Amino acid sequence: MYKTAKRLAAIALPAALAFTSFTAQAADEVNIYSYRQQFLIQPMLDAFTAETGIKTNVVFAKKGLIQRLKHEGKHSPADIILTSDIGPLYDVVNEGLTQPVESAVLDKNIPAQFQDPSKHWYGLTSRARIIYASKDRVKPGEITTYEDLADPKWQGRICSRSGKHTYTLSLIGSMIAHHGEAETQKWLEGLKANLARKPQGNDRAQVKAVKEGVCDLALGNTYYFGKMLTNDKNPEQKEWAMSVNLLFPNQDDRGAHMNISGAALTKYAPHKEAAIKLMEFLSKEQAQTMYAKANYEFPVRPNTPRAELINEYMGEFKEDQINLQEVAELRATAARLVDKVGFDN
Ligand code: FE
Repeated sequence: MYKTAKRLAAIALPAALAFTSFTAQAADEVNIYSYRQQFLIQPMLDAFTAETGIKTNVVFAKKGLIQRLKHEGKHSPADIILTSDIGPLYDVVNEGLTQPVESAVLDKNIPAQFQDPSKHWYGLTSRARIIYASKDRVKPGEITTYEDLADPKWQGRICSRSGKHTYTLSLIGSMIAHHGEAETQKWLEGLKANLARKPQGNDRAQVKAVKEGVCDLALGNTYYFGKMLTNDKNPEQKEWAMSVNLLFPNQDDRGAHMNISGAALTKYAPHKEAAIKLMEFLSKEQAQTMYAKANYEFPVRPNTPRAELINEYMGEFKEDQINLQEVAELRATAARLVDKVGFDN
């Protein structure tokens, strides 16, 4: 939250963030603020332009886009914001920077649990947060649920990234939704007590730690497995991936915790109609296939082809059907629990 106008004015916008070409009044274009990387997004945008003749302009950034939207207010050129997780998607809606989209196409293509009940955000790809288990040191069936991660038998054998990372907060949020706050706190204390080291690094760093024998179990998003296994630039990552089994938790009850990348229409979208067309395009089979395959994610649209690697190593699994809005609303409570149990200390 920015308290003063002075603070607002102080936000410097790097030149690199400027649109390469921008004409505010043109009807046949869409302006996008994207937290997702260019290699993922650009091919679909090119296909959209080829099909519709509507141009797209994108600002790609790792952070600051929500603040930028807020700062620009009514004068923002942005029509759509693309995020790589429910966290920032929920935040941009919560800040009042979006508007609802009524679309029969989006409603048909995107399952209910991956869209905002009040229509402000829509998921475009999904991923599960799973347990990566050492092939050598964890027997099949030895762990089957997120709840088991708190079992003292895993003492000193689990690696985790920060409890405050957006992926962790969503997982903890889903635990609160299913078990309540008090029980989740106990679980988090148990998990904390089982950590092999202080939380650090990203998802891939946890799998590397399993490979190196630092720990036997780690939590990570599914797509990183594909990104490691096919990594010709850093071939050592192939070995990290080959050292683990992928365990989809809670297959006998609620299913694996899911998260999404997604999109929202900005409150003052200058090209609202074209922007909705683009959102609908992104939910259709062609874009869904391209988007999901490029990053080893799952298409949200039912009956859409997945990457071969996913079929080979992951197959079908049971997904938690809880609406992600419910999970996102519990992220603040999750963050408080992370502090309370000193998870990152
Ligand atoms: Fe990620």
